[in-house]
Amino acid sequence: MEGHELDNTKRARLWLLFLNMGMLLSYGAIIFFTEWPVIKYYGFRMIAVLSIFYFIYHFISNYYLAKNPKFILELSFFLTGIPAIFIADYFGGPFGNAILFLYLAVIGAFVYKTIWGISVVAIALVYFSLHGVFGAITFADNVQGFGIAFASLMVMSFAGFFINRHNKTVEQQGQSLKKVADRLTAEKSQDEAVLTAIADGVYAVDKDRNLVLLNKAAQGMVGWSEKDALGIKCKTVMGLKDDKDISVCEKDCPALAVWNTGEAVFRNDTCFMHRKTKQRVQLSSSYAPIKDLDGNMVGAICVFRDVTKDKELERQRNEFVSTASHELRTPITATEGYISIITDSGMCKVDEPTREYLGKAKNTLLGMSSLIKNLLAVTKIEEGRLETTVTNFPIKDLVNEVVEVFARKAKEKGINLEFAQSTEITTAGKKAIGRSLNVRADREMIREVLNNLTENAIKFTEKGGVKISIDYDKEFATVNIQDSGMGMPKDAQKHLFEKFYRVDNTATREVGGTGLGLYITRSIVETFGGRIWVDSEMKKGSNFHFTIPLALDS
Ligand code: ADP
Repeated sequence: MEGHELDNTKRARLWLLFLNMGMLLSYGAIIFFTEWPVIKYYGFRMIAVLSIFYFIYHFISNYYLAKNPKFILELSFFLTGIPAIFIADYFGGPFGNAILFLYLAVIGAFVYKTIWGISVVAIALVYFSLHGVFGAITFADNVQGFGIAFASLMVMSFAGFFINRHNKTVEQQGQSLKKVADRLTAEKSQDEAVLTAIADGVYAVDKDRNLVLLNKAAQGMVGWSEKDALGIKCKTVMGLKDDKDISVCEKDCPALAVWNTGEAVFRNDTCFMHRKTKQRVQLSSSYAPIKDLDGNMVGAICVFRDVTKDKELERQRNEFVSTASHELRTPITATEGYISIITDSGMCKVDEPTREYLGKAKNTLLGMSSLIKNLLAVTKIEEGRLETTVTNFPIKDLVNEVVEVFARKAKEKGINLEFAQSTEITTAGKKAIGRSLNVRADREMIREVLNNLTENAIKFTEKGGVKISIDYDKEFATVNIQDSGMGMPKDAQKHLFEKFYRVDNTATREVGGTGLGLYITRSIVETFGGRIWVDSEMKKGSNFHFTIPLALDS
């Protein structure tokens, strides 16, 4: 702002100097080159007077220049017009050629600022009127000439005015463009600063899957510089592979998945090789679509983290659990076997109290054995080693078998266990005709799921009962295991299917368990393309639901 004002001050000073020099020179030239009578011409006498006035004005304006240089500059422009009128008047008045300068001054003033344009027009009108009344040629002498002069003045005014308007619009557009450009530049440098500061790797691809962004952390992790990597195919730089060393970029590119679904994708199973060290970097990554202002997909962005160390730790932990479980299994089975021989074979004489204690010992061993079985299942799931034998089978038969197995347990506890088999199997309320009621999964694993959910339902129900039912829709069979037990709070339901999660209350503590059952259950259901969830209310009961895809045959 200050620099701007200083410029105006300088300009105003120069302009004033130019004005006065011009005045003096023209005055001197006229005196020198022309006949004395010329001086008698009132216009030139006025110029002489004005030039003295301008000298005074110069000093006054110098004083105000510091305060409002812009105004002084504009006023000086304006005052320049006055001698122009006198000169024009001398060389032919309103009908002479020099009047063109006045017209040009009108345009110039309008172009500069409307208010100055109006002022110059006002002066010109006053001049025309004075001339028309007192001049050598009056209105009465040349009506047509004055008409043309007025009309020209108007045309020039409009011309100047429109040029001014046009300039303003262009300027405004320029300013708003500049604002947008400034904002974008500011946002860009802000984004860049944020991206650089992020410790996670970030990369983005366009629709052709060319890299358009690779932040500092990502450059370090992949061993590519931004300069080399940008603009080339993402797969050349990232070269993602899955756990089985199969190219993810070729087979199931997450960016493509993001485009197809429009939703974020999370991957925990990818890795890439560092470009220089050739070391394998295991990733945990999330992909999200990039959309333009109209919501069209224009690319995808990925945030990833090096989890090589975590994966290795996890592998070692799983290996330990797996080895320890195997080692424990043998003595537990053997001890259980010996207890059975003592209590059941009739080979040993056992009194009642001893039998009771041995029975308790056997139950504890069975609990341990189930814990070990669960731990082994968890390690298998986590290492992706679940071996499955997928067949088509009627889910209702399996439910029947499970209900038969648990009937005794339920009876012992004094609660009711029923399979609510509908005589007519319906899909979404309509009779299912010609639809397969077989599901496609590993029968024994689904048995595990049913065992687990039914056992839990009985375990956590003190009165009332457990009801199992099946619904069918176009693609899935949904099994519902509903109990009238203790239920669980809403916030517990979110974590229920996580590893080792147990609802924290006295009832759960008394009942005992590991918190692994539902985690295994969820993993199995998801392995076969199903989903599991729960509706539960405290003290009213829980309703577990899981789906399994229907087989295509009938
Ligand atoms: P566990 O039964 O060995 O504790 P699960 O993973 O099978 O492990 O269950 C986790 C927790 O979920 C249980 O500890 C219990 O708090 C809660 N839960 C599971 N099923 C039910 C149910 N039917 N009613 C109430 N709570 C349940």
